[in-house]
Amino acid sequence: MTVNTVNQFINGQFLPGNGSQNIQVTNPANNQVIAEIPVSTEQDMESAIAAAKAAFPSWKKVAVSERARLMLRYQHILKEKHDEIAKVLAQETGKTLEDAKGDVWRGIEVVEQACNVASLMMGETVENVATNIDTYSLIQPLGVCLGITPFNFPAMIPLWMFPLAIACGNTFVLKPSEQDPNTPMLLAELFKQAGAPDGVLNVVHGGADEVNYLLNHQDIKAVSFVGSVPVGQHIYRTATANMKRAQCFAGAKNHSVVMPDASKEQVLNNLVGASVGAAGQRCMAISVAVFVGESQKWISELADKISKVTPGLWDDPNAGYGPLISPQAKARVLSLIEEGKKEGATCLLDGSEFSVEGYESGNWVGPTVFTDVTTDMQIYQQEIFGPVLCCIGVDTLEQAIQLVNANPYGNGTSIFTASGGAARKYQSDVEVGQVGINVPIPVPLPFFSFTGWKNSFYGDLHAYGKQAIRFYTETKTITARWFDEGQETGPNMTINLR
Ligand code: NAD
Repeated sequence: MTVNTVNQFINGQFLPGNGSQNIQVTNPANNQVIAEIPVSTEQDMESAIAAAKAAFPSWKKVAVSERARLMLRYQHILKEKHDEIAKVLAQETGKTLEDAKGDVWRGIEVVEQACNVASLMMGETVENVATNIDTYSLIQPLGVCLGITPFNFPAMIPLWMFPLAIACGNTFVLKPSEQDPNTPMLLAELFKQAGAPDGVLNVVHGGADEVNYLLNHQDIKAVSFVGSVPVGQHIYRTATANMKRAQCFAGAKNHSVVMPDASKEQVLNNLVGASVGAAGQRCMAISVAVFVGESQKWISELADKISKVTPGLWDDPNAGYGPLISPQAKARVLSLIEEGKKEGATCLLDGSEFSVEGYESGNWVGPTVFTDVTTDMQIYQQEIFGPVLCCIGVDTLEQAIQLVNANPYGNGTSIFTASGGAARKYQSDVEVGQVGINVPIPVPLPFFSFTGWKNSFYGDLHAYGKQAIRFYTETKTITARWFDEGQETGPNMTINLR
C-alpha cells in the first residue's frame, strides 16, 4: 500500500514541513500506515500565521457578495466531489461510506449557510436617537482565527469553522486532528480550487505542542476548538488567559428517555443507530437509555436488535459501522467494558471479542449493551466513545429528568413519548443544550446553532448559525450627525446627545 505524504497549506501553497518529525496516519481497519504528516515547526506556524495576517487587510475589504460567491463556488465543488471526499474520509476514519457521506453533507450545509453572509452580517440602525443624530452598527471581522478539530468528523467540523469565519472577512489557520488529516487537506485543496485567495486559509499539523504554540500567539484573535473535555478546558483557559475569544466544544454523555407510551418499534429502531452507529464515536451518540416504568421490559429486545448490527469495512454495504480510530481508543473502550462488568452492571451484549476476518489487527469492538447501570459506575461517569449503550430503569419522568440533569455533560438528549405534556415538560426542564422529541440525535441544521451546555461546551457563542457570526465578528456602533450650514450648536457639557 502506498503511503501518502501529507503537506501543510500555507499562503496558497502545499508545502512539506521544515522539520524532521512526522506523524503516521493508520488505517483503523488493520493499523497499516496509510499517510504521514509533518509536525509543523515554529517556523511553519509563523509562516501560516504571517500569511493569514497579511491576507486579512485586503480580504476584509473584498465585497461581501464576492465573499459569498466564493462560498457558492465552494459549495458547488464540494457537492461535485462529495463522494470522492467521503471515500477519503471513510478510508482514514474507518466510517462506512454512507456514514462518511453524512459527515461531508453536514459540512456542506454550513457552507450553504456561509453563502448567506451578507444578510447575517447586517447591523442595526435607529434614526433620530436625538434630533438629527442617527446610530447604526457595523459588523466587522476580527482578524486571524484558529480552528483545532477532532478526529471524529474530519469534514463536518472543519467546515463548521473556516467557511463562516472567512465569509465574515477573517482569515484562518486550521490545525486538524493528526489522526485523519487527508480529509481536511482535501477540503483545503478544493477551497483553493474555488478561488480562495492565498493566505485566507492555512493548514498546519501537529499535536499538543503545536496547539499550545498557536494558542500563545498574539496574532490569533479567536479560537474554535472541538474535542475532549480535558483538552477543551485547557484550550479555553489558555486562549482566554491570552485575551483571545474562545469557543470550545467538548465531550458528551447523551441520554435518551423512553416513556412507556412511546411507539416501541420506533424507539428501538432509533436507539440502535443512535447508540452504536459510527462505533459510538459521535459527540451526539446516545450512550445512556433511561427507560421509564413499563418500558424497562423493552431492554432485552433492544439488546437483541443491537446484536444484529455487524461492524465491517468502510466499503462493505452490510457493515453497520467501522473500527474505532486507534488501538488506544479500542483499549480504553475494552477496559471500560471490563470495569462495567466488575462494578456489577449486567452485560446483555458483549462486543469485546469481536473482530473482522482478515482484519484481526484492526480496532474492532462489537456492539455492547449494559443494563442495571447505576450512576456511580465508571461506564456511566466516563464518556466511553465506543459502541456501548448503558441502560438504566427509573419509575417516573421526574426521576429521569433529575438523572439527566445531575450528569455533568449537556450536549444532546432525546425523549420518546406520545404525550405532548411529557415532551413539553422534558424540553423545558432538562438542562441540556439540544433536545430531540422522538428524534434520537437532534443535531440542528446550520441556520440554528450547535448549542451544547455544561461540560460539553466552554464559551458563550456556539458553532454556526447566527451565534457563529457573532463569534467571528465584532460590533462597532456609530453615532453620527451631519450639520447643515447654520445649524451648529453651542458647547454641550453633558453626556446626553442633543
Ligand atoms: P482530542 O481532545 O484528543 O483532540 C482534539 C484536538 O485537540 C486535536 O486536534 C488534537 O491534536 C488536539 N489536542 C490533543 N491533545 C491536546 C493537548 N493536550 N493540548 C492541546 N491540543 C491537544 O479529541 P478527539 O479524540 O480527536 O475527539 C473526540 C472527542 O471530541 C470526544 O470527547 C468527543 O465528544 C468530542 N467531540 C465533541 C463535539 C461537540 O460538538 N461537543 C463534536 C465532536 C467531537
